[in-house]
This record gives sequence, C-alpha cells and structure tokens, in this order.
Amino acid sequence: HPIALKRALISVSDKTGLIEFARKLAARGIEILSTGGSAGAMREAGLTVVDVADVTGFPEMMDGRVKTLHPAVHGGLLALRDNEEHLAAMKAHGIGPIDLLVVNLYPFEETVAKGASYEDCIENIDIGGPAMIRAAAKNHGFVNVIVDVQDYDALLAELDANDDHTTLEFRQRQAQIAYARTAAYDAAVSTWMAQAIGEDTPRRRAFAGTLAQGLRYGENPHQAAAFYVTGEARPGVSTAKQWQGKELSYNNINDTDAAFELAAEFDPADGPACAIIKHANPCGVARGETAIEAYKRAFDCDHTSAFGGIVALNQPLDGPTAEEIVKIFTEVVIAPDADEDAKRIFAAKKNLRLLTTGGLPDPKAGGMTFRQVAGGFLVQGRDNGHVSRDALRIVTERQPSDQELNDMLFAWTVAKHVKSNAIVYARDMATVGIGAGQMSRVDSTRIGRRKSEDMAKALGLPAPLTEGAAVASDAFFPFADGIEALAEAGAKAVIQPGGSMRDDEVIAAANRLGLAMVFTGQRHFRH
Ligand code: 5GP
Repeated sequence: HPIALKRALISVSDKTGLIEFARKLAARGIEILSTGGSAGAMREAGLTVVDVADVTGFPEMMDGRVKTLHPAVHGGLLALRDNEEHLAAMKAHGIGPIDLLVVNLYPFEETVAKGASYEDCIENIDIGGPAMIRAAAKNHGFVNVIVDVQDYDALLAELDANDDHTTLEFRQRQAQIAYARTAAYDAAVSTWMAQAIGEDTPRRRAFAGTLAQGLRYGENPHQAAAFYVTGEARPGVSTAKQWQGKELSYNNINDTDAAFELAAEFDPADGPACAIIKHANPCGVARGETAIEAYKRAFDCDHTSAFGGIVALNQPLDGPTAEEIVKIFTEVVIAPDADEDAKRIFAAKKNLRLLTTGGLPDPKAGGMTFRQVAGGFLVQGRDNGHVSRDALRIVTERQPSDQELNDMLFAWTVAKHVKSNAIVYARDMATVGIGAGQMSRVDSTRIGRRKSEDMAKALGLPAPLTEGAAVASDAFFPFADGIEALAEAGAKAVIQPGGSMRDDEVIAAANRLGLAMVFTGQRHFRH
C-alpha cells in the first residue's frame, strides 16, 4: 500500500517549523488546504494555500469552534479509496480526497498549566482537531496523519526513501502516535475537570501528565526516567521554585515529596515543625518553639542517617535555621518560603538545592496515588486519614496523661509517613527512635529502640529517650510480643489502630506492664 501524496490539510496551533515543512510539501506538488491562522501564516510566507472554508462552503464560525467539521473534510479523510460506493459518494457530493493530515491541537495542557480560568480552559478544548486526527488515523490504509512537529522530518524522510510515497508501516506508526495523542488530550481534559469540580472517585477519573523534566536516570543509573506533572494545584515538589543547585534527581524528587508531605501534617499555627528524610522514610521529625529548634531536635534523633538527607519545614526558613542546616551535607531543603538571610547562607553551598513552594499542601485533601504492577497499575485515594483527640478510645486501666496524648498523636502523625511496619517512639513532640519498613512489627520496635540508644550515645544522654516515650504503631499488634518489646524499651504509652483478633491479649499485656494505650480505629499502612 504505498500511497502518493496529492492533497494535504494543515491545521496547527503550534506553528513551529510550519513554513519550512509546508514549503517542502509544496515543492513536491502537494496541494495544501488549511484553516484560518495556519493558512494566514503560510500565505504570508508566500505559499499558495486553499482555505478550508472554500472547500466546505461554510465560513469558520463560533470563535473557531466550527472550522473543519464538515463532510467535505471528513469524507475526504475517511473514504476508502478502493471501495466503489465510497468513491461514488465522493463523486456525487464533490468531495476530494485528503491524503495527508497535519494537526496539532489547541494548547489545552499549557492553558491549564498557566492557571487560566475555567472558561479559558473550556475554550481551549479542541474539537475539530481530534475529530480529524481520529478519522485520518482510522483510515491509515490510505491517509497519513502527523500530530507532532517532531514528525515533520520523519514524513519528509519517508517520502525521500519511497519515491514520494509512504509505506503502510509508516502510516500505522503515525496512526498509533495519533491515537496516543488524542487519548492523552482527553485524559488531560478529564483530569483538569475532575480537579475543577472536586471529583475524587478513582473509578471516574482519568489521569494525564505533562512531561515536566527528563531525568538523567531513575532509581538507578541503568533506568531511564522522567518527571510528569498533573497540573494538580498542590504546593510541593512539582510546583516549587528551585533557587539553586543542580537538577533534582528521581530519588531527590521522591524523597523531597515525602519530606514536605510530612512537614505539612503540622499546622504552622501550632508552631514550627521539621522533618528530615532519607530514602522516603523520616530519620527525625520534631516540633520546636522556633524553626531552628525544630530542625535541631529532628536532627538529634539520628545524626548518622540525616547526612545527605532532605529537610522540610512547615514554615519559612530563616537565617539561623539555614546556618544550622548547612553544618552537614544536605541534598535538598524545602519550605513554604525562605528569607533573604537564609537564601544567602544556602547560596554558599552550591550542591544544596533550595526549594520554596509558596504554601503547604492540605494533608486532609483528597487526591490519588498510583503504583505500577506487572500489566497494570493500582490507583487509590491519597491517605488523608486523620484522627482527632476525641476519637481516640482508651483501652487500658491506666489513662494517658495530657502530655502522653500529645506525644501519641505526634508519633501517630509521623507513623503515617513511615514505611510499614512502622514504629515511632516520641518524647516532647520529637521522634526519639523510628523503626521502618520491617517485615515483622517486633523487629521495628527493636530497631526503633536501638536507634534511640545510638541517639543517647551521640548526645551523651544518661539513658535512651525511649524510656518514658509514647509509641505509635501504624497497624495493630497481632500478638502481645510487640507490646512486651515496647515495655522493655521503657515506653509508657501506645497508640495503635486496634482491631486484632488478639486485642484482648494485647490489652492485658499493656495492663500488666503498666502502659496506657489508645486505639485510633484507623490504620496507616504505607508499602
Ligand atoms: P488555525 O490557527 O489554523 O486557525 O487553527 C488551528 C487549530 O484549529 C488546530 O489546533 C486545529 O486542531 C483546530 N481546529 C481545526 N478544526 C477545528 C474545528 O472544527 N473546531 C475546533 N474547535 N478546532 C479546530
């Protein structure tokens, strides 16, 4: 099926490379039909162009909403050239064949990214373009479709290589690209609209991303990677301004997101909070009277792991905090804002990346998370679960003190951001031992305890701060052994979802060991 090109329809919003390409088509004797803006641009460059309006007998109307939606266009794209009836219909209605369609769509994604109004976004939904693309792609047995400026040269090379014809293989490849484009386009419309109207149900949502950045590599150097943004208006790593330092890597972006989402759990109205992240797990989280105090207390939890970490704050960075942060090597610092002092201090550290977001994401907001599995992907609502103090159920004889309750809720909030099985020890609104990502909950309790011993050693404390700590467990204790391990570490108060078959045994152990325990009725698995 080599097809010769005689008549092309060009209708492009992005006019990059248009003139040069059209000249080369014209030089091959190809007749060019075109729409308003595209035709104007080509005529200005001295090319001969036929207006689509002259072909359809209708002017472009309704602000361009109706330009090419006409049988003279769609018949010319869709007619099977080897079908007698189709040919007869073309003849009867004066429809000429269109062999090449060159379309790129209204810039919907760019319009959304600019933060345009609802009406502007709607007006930038291309209707006739996708209709023509889908028609030409369907009829790829006879018609060529080009939807990407990048493929202009590919078409010319194809014509060169095939005596001014295109091969079926080429047309199939371009048709596949065309359908990928219209699918992504409508997914972008749907994603934007879901956001605009607050639709949150995963089943009803489509997802589309716009390439924001090619990445040097993925989690490892042998993996290719890229960063796509969905245009969701959530302050964070995808919308942040980077003030200095080299490009973020795949792992940086992932870890920075984890750090900022955690810091944002703490309402700045309640005071500063700081999270330090390594490999998407917190190695220290703390509140403080000041930002510098919050940072120092978070850092004190685990000096060793904090090296090369990501630091997130829930409020603007100031000079003293910046001065403290740059004492060790830190990959990324992210905060809603940074004052001039902080920026100046960071500027002296060329390898440190400073990001400011202008605000905090709402931890209670809906949204989606994805995970790829072989042959598919999983979608779920963001974990925006939250327990209030009143919703806690005290299950032990001993009642927790006010301070224990504060520390329990603090530890619980941190545990939500720790990979399961997660055990978080906290004292005075700072983590003092974190056990993350273990296959057994008892192992996580032991690791948290050991971390706390290291912390005591590093700080020259007489005893690990797990003694007297509150502890959060992201999911229930299936057996009493976890509670026993916590008591052995000196913990005094436990917050956990409850709901185990053996809750009775677990509660009995807590009573026997003098612990206070509360159930949240909600868990925070994070796998
Ligand atoms: P131009 O700049 O040539 O006036 O317009 C080009 C754009 O119009 C292209 O992006 C093309 O996809 C789009 N387009 C072509 N026909 C129609 C139509 O009938 N309706 C709408 N809404 N857009 C069209």
